[in-house]
Amino acid sequence: MAWGEKPTSVHRCPECGAFEIERSSRRGVVERVRLLLARQRPYRCLKCDHRFYDRRV
Ligand SMILES: [Zn+2]
Repeated sequence: MAWGEKPTSVHRCPECGAFEIERSSRRGVVERVRLLLARQRPYRCLKCDHRFYDRRV
């Protein structure tokens, strides 16, 4: 499960609906582990700068 794998699903911003999103930079080890356990990944919208989490499927 490498960082930078081909995305298996299309994500979009829940705020503005844009598809131009990127994986948000990690904030720290604790956050990273927490998200890993929750099976979520942080994303950031390039259009409106909205940050959100998406559940890994
Ligand atoms: Zn957006």
